[in-house]
Amino acid sequence: MIKRRKTKVIKIGNVKIGGSNPVAVQSMTNTDTRDAKATIKQIKELEKAGCEIIRVAVPDEKAAKAIKAIKKEIKIPLVADIHFDYKLALEAIRARADKIRINPGNIDSKDKVKEVVKACQKKKIPIRVGVNIGSLKPELVRKYGRTPKAMAKSALENIEILEDLNFKNIAVSLKASDVLRTIESYRLLSKKVNYPLHLGITEAGTPKSGIIKSAIGLGILLEEGIGDTIRVSLTDNPEEEVKVAWEILKALNLRERGPVLVSCPTCGRTEIDLIKLANKVEQELVKIKKPIKVAVMGCVVNGPGEASEADIGIAGGKRAGVLFKKGKVIKTLPESKLLTELLKQIKLL
Ligand code: SF4
Repeated sequence: MIKRRKTKVIKIGNVKIGGSNPVAVQSMTNTDTRDAKATIKQIKELEKAGCEIIRVAVPDEKAAKAIKAIKKEIKIPLVADIHFDYKLALEAIRARADKIRINPGNIDSKDKVKEVVKACQKKKIPIRVGVNIGSLKPELVRKYGRTPKAMAKSALENIEILEDLNFKNIAVSLKASDVLRTIESYRLLSKKVNYPLHLGITEAGTPKSGIIKSAIGLGILLEEGIGDTIRVSLTDNPEEEVKVAWEILKALNLRERGPVLVSCPTCGRTEIDLIKLANKVEQELVKIKKPIKVAVMGCVVNGPGEASEADIGIAGGKRAGVLFKKGKVIKTLPESKLLTELLKQIKLL
């Protein structure tokens, strides 16, 4: 059992993060936010995939204003991602964004920061301080280099600006594109503040390397109890980010969502087309909500035993196979019937 760090609870629309609330899954749209219709369509798909908080880029006033129309059609809370233009933050808040991602240290005057903070206080919406290793202030880079220490310092400076204005409705992220610096930055900051932490490895890459980097980086931190919400960044459809985020959380027993599939790597004993079968089972399991463990194994000799912890499974033989529950063989079936029978039995569980 992972012992999670006790952080402050903050509310993003109808989702609470921090404290003992479940680690929330978030993603970011890659549509043009100004195109509300396309953005709504993508958010609805992401909702279906299990996204719990969505972030949209706000590059200009038109994008900020589009939030109003987007918000009317979606169920999950929306975060407006703003770089430094405080006017866009104010516009996004007016358009009912549920959270703002902006670094107060990037806003060029204290009065402007005050205005943003006041607007957030009025609407009770949090601010995420999002430190990125690529955009650290030159003074910090000169003093500490692009190091975890510089990242944590940058976050603390931004937090201090907000706290000085009596604003504590804060979440923080510290993103680097390499795993080790990201982990160390979060470890350092989590010793200093108890604000909820948004975890992510930025620019993680295309699916293969991105999934590995995210699973290692986020996995290590989550196992240490660090992290209240996660975003997996992939150069891919954001729906894939959501699926991967769930797999990471499920692998650590932090969340449950639908079945867990276990399948064997196949070996010289495999006599059926297990790779094809396992992929088909995986596609079908997406439609099932029950948090059960399903096994797809290559041989009858070892399969049911090796997967005895699975609630239900199939194991292949010579053009045939067996269906088993908790390691006990229930039925022998021809290869062509294995998938349909497995799905039928899952429905009965
Ligand atoms: Fe080989 Fe059977 Fe184990 Fe699969 S379950 S790896 S086929 S021994």
